[in-house]
Amino acid sequence: MLNAAKLTFIISFVFCFMPLSIFAGDKSSETIFFLGSGSAETPWTQLVSQGFVEKMDRSGVPYSFHIDHLEAARFDEVHQYDLMFRYLKEKFAQKEPDIFVSAGPAASNFSLRFPELFAGARRILIQSGDDGSANATLIDAEIEHLLMIREMIRLSGPSKVFIIGDSVQPSDKLRLGGITSALEHENVSYEILVNKALPELLAAVSELPDESTIFYAPIFRRYEGKDLAPAYVLKELHQASRSPIFSSSDSTLGFGMVGGYLYSPKKLGYMAGEAAHSLIRGGPIEFTQNGFGYTYDWNEVIRWGYEDLISTKAEVLFRAPSLWQQHKGKIILTLLSLCLLLLLSTALIFINRQLTKTKNVLNKERLLLEERVQERTQELSLLHKQAVEMARIDVLTGLPNRRAFFEQAEIVHYQTERYHNPYVVLMLDIDLFKKTNDTYGHPAGDKVIQSVAKTIRSLIRKSDVAARIGGEEFAVILREAEHDHFYSLAERVRHEISEIPVCFEDDQIRTSVSIGIAEYQAGDKSIDDILCRADKALYQAKQTGRNKVVIDPVCV
Ligand code: GH3
Ligand code: MG
Ligand code: MG
Repeated sequence: MLNAAKLTFIISFVFCFMPLSIFAGDKSSETIFFLGSGSAETPWTQLVSQGFVEKMDRSGVPYSFHIDHLEAARFDEVHQYDLMFRYLKEKFAQKEPDIFVSAGPAASNFSLRFPELFAGARRILIQSGDDGSANATLIDAEIEHLLMIREMIRLSGPSKVFIIGDSVQPSDKLRLGGITSALEHENVSYEILVNKALPELLAAVSELPDESTIFYAPIFRRYEGKDLAPAYVLKELHQASRSPIFSSSDSTLGFGMVGGYLYSPKKLGYMAGEAAHSLIRGGPIEFTQNGFGYTYDWNEVIRWGYEDLISTKAEVLFRAPSLWQQHKGKIILTLLSLCLLLLLSTALIFINRQLTKTKNVLNKERLLLEERVQERTQELSLLHKQAVEMARIDVLTGLPNRRAFFEQAEIVHYQTERYHNPYVVLMLDIDLFKKTNDTYGHPAGDKVIQSVAKTIRSLIRKSDVAARIGGEEFAVILREAEHDHFYSLAERVRHEISEIPVCFEDDQIRTSVSIGIAEYQAGDKSIDDILCRADKALYQAKQTGRNKVVIDPVCV
């Protein structure tokens, strides 16, 4: 449990040691002050400070960074330096920077001019124009004028060179000297447009002859109420000029300068960062950077037609990325999709062809099968027809059998009821046929049955119906028969059968039939009624001696 005494102890402990820890943090961090020659907008100064900060950040040393600008457009107004000195001394009185970095000749002059400013700080001068007598670390890109001039001539071809610059400070003079001696070394004719006010310079530039080249040594100018840093002066010159403009630093790229063999302020910043890191560590200063390289502005390269002249290894700024670079992912994806689509289409076409082939084969098979089924159906239907016919025909005599007889009798009876055409039924039974079989044998009996059937069929009309309705029994329907006619017909049948013997092998078999006759009467419900009466008449014939014809008394 925390009691009040313990809590008070912890709080007083924290409050006692907290300021100490904050103080310790300050001690462990380096304070760096960076002074640029131009303004906060000057590209050259921006690039140098950017490079410096990047390198320091990468070094892993804890530091606090403070930046101010000399506004070098006023660099010849010395009283401004005093004001700046007092301002900075007051502003950084509490901070006491450990390292004082100045970028450019103006800021470096300032730094050297006021040694009492940040007296304890180690000084780094970037591109100071100093001869090395100062007690400071100097970071210089020794401008390679000859290589710059050679690259300019190589691109622009034989033309007159106009040098724009200043010749006020010793550093200006040094720079101009370097440029002119390089031009002379290459035997190029030139003219110097120095220390001119901007309107005058713009007018001169606009009137330069066609075959001219401009070499721009950075200058500050006051123009239309504004203090212009070198890059912005170049922008104005670029608008007025009809000639390509070359310069020495890549900080002016993008403002109208073509490019070439240039030194890089950002790389100078890296070098200063490396120097600061070494100073903090207390070790020797080693630089890993080469401040020069071939760099171009693609817009200017296009404008002056230098596309084929610049090296493929050079750094080219502001080049619009190609369609491929812009949409690489989408293009690859689209191509892959197209390939996939092509693959699928090919597969589909192949499958479709295979299907069509299979379909054709199946179709042929189906047609063949249909043909066979049709043939078979026809065969079956023929067989069926034959079977149906067979089922109605008596095999021994070829006459309709009992079943067929009753089917036809039904039709005849129906027609009679409808059209009132009477019909007559004859029932025939072979006499004592059992005895015939017994005497001559069954095959002989069959022959007798066939012979009786043949006789009946030969004597009746085609429209009459004769059938074998039992073993040795026959029935005949005579249509529209007159009394005389059916009796005489029955008599003729009986007579012929009894008179003509049946020849079987060596035998002459004599036989006879008894016949009962009945005629349709109004009120007969079916053929059965007439058959019944005919049967009775037949029975009568049998009873009264056989081999005779008896007529149903109803019709007599
Ligand atoms: P009835 O004069 O009284 O008619 O004497 P029946 O002998 O003819 O009569 P029954 O009914 O006694 O005999 C008929 C015989 O007919 C008996 C049978 O063996 C014979 N029969 C029946 N069908 C056939 C056949 O298809 N072929 C032969 N050969 N005989 C048959
Ligand atoms: Mg019988
Ligand atoms: Mg019989």
